[in-house]
Amino acid sequence: MKRIIVIGGGFSGIACLNRLLTYRGKIDLTLINDKGDFNFLPMLPDCISGKVNPEYLAFDLANLSRRVNFVRDRVTGIDLKEKMILASRQTLNYDLLLVGSGSETNFYGNDEIRKAAFKLDNVDDVKDLAGVMSRERIGSYVIAGAGYTGIEVATNLRIALNRKKIKGRIVIVERATSILGPLPQWMKNYVLANLKSMDIEVFTESSVAGVSGRRIALSGGKVFDDAILIWAAGVETSGFIRNLNIEKNPQGRIKVDEYLRFHDSCFAAGDAAFFSYQGNYLRMAVQFSIMQGDCAGINIIKTLQGKELVKYRPVDLGYIIPMANNKSCGILLGFSVKGILPVFLHYLMCVYRLMGLRNKLGVLLSLASYRLRW
Ligand SMILES: Cc1cc2nc3c(=O)[nH]c(=O)nc-3n(C[C@H](O)[C@H](O)[C@H](O)COP(=O)(O)OP(=O)(O)OC[C@H]3O[C@@H](n4cnc5c(N)ncnc54)[C@H](O)[C@@H]3O)c2cc1C
Repeated sequence: MKRIIVIGGGFSGIACLNRLLTYRGKIDLTLINDKGDFNFLPMLPDCISGKVNPEYLAFDLANLSRRVNFVRDRVTGIDLKEKMILASRQTLNYDLLLVGSGSETNFYGNDEIRKAAFKLDNVDDVKDLAGVMSRERIGSYVIAGAGYTGIEVATNLRIALNRKKIKGRIVIVERATSILGPLPQWMKNYVLANLKSMDIEVFTESSVAGVSGRRIALSGGKVFDDAILIWAAGVETSGFIRNLNIEKNPQGRIKVDEYLRFHDSCFAAGDAAFFSYQGNYLRMAVQFSIMQGDCAGINIIKTLQGKELVKYRPVDLGYIIPMANNKSCGILLGFSVKGILPVFLHYLMCVYRLMGLRNKLGVLLSLASYRLRW
């Protein structure tokens, strides 16, 4: 019986498994994930403002299917020659493999910041942040990185503070000359105006120079006391990928071919994969992760059947930057959009993609009963 291993119980890994579960032949399916549950990442920032309960964003991977052996362990390496997965507590052999291990916060080797900062990689991270906010009196929240995540975090923080009637300084620090990287200028202007209306400061061409306890220093000499640092300044792939001797981009994403293959019998999907598209590359997003996971699943089945593989053809539905005061902007189906309607569509999509009926209902009820007061 062929042994198929999926590394990563996130969007791409689950989509691949769902496809493999449709295969009628005998296969030995194993999912290996470092945590016990699937985490729905796009709604993590909403937990900060209390819009969503983090409990509804996790789904127990042991309940996935009786046909899937779930192994909870952290992959530390892959021996491509011996077709072997090396994990913290075991080794596993495979005939076919999917790497869907996503990405994690990149601290760029700065251990001081790694130890001191909060991050938003999973449900436990957001619980940690909520915990410190409820226990301590924090004067300033310094967010490193003015990408989607940093902006979503900042706006949710402001709503959280206003709901508790607490004054607090919220500052986004960005190393580049402007927010939101390569996105169009009209979006940057829209977001900047909204951040200003929410009393969120933005320091561009600035970076975090050091953290000591609750004291944060910026590169220009500014210092914040009673402050916490939330790090949203970039991501990289899991450590075991970085050690693989294969072609990768600077974030460590694995270069895949048009069939999502990177090595004999090995596929990669989602954030872990680097797929060239129209002279550029696909950004990290849920829609691509799900579609790639599904396509990799199809190609694993085709390999088992000895049939020709199918090419992955990306479909880009667009993107939205949802801010916590129900303002948003983005591109949907090629059209520029802004305002409250895209926020509504974003949440609709989130509920649709959540795993588990209890979670879907829980989030739906939370959103329906949520009153925006600030
Ligand atoms: C705060 C936040 C907000 C976001 N908002 C949006 C949004 O609004 N829209 C959007 O499209 N995208 C959003 N994204 C990006 C989106 O969540 C990712 O693109 C998507 O989750 C990638 O799916 P994936 O399957 O590649 O990886 P993931 O969903 O991250 O799953 C990877 C899995 O692999 C596991 N894993 C990692 N390393 C190992 C290892 N060494 N051993 C074993 N298991 C391992 C992880 O624990 C995880 O379960 C957001 C991301 C974050 C962090």
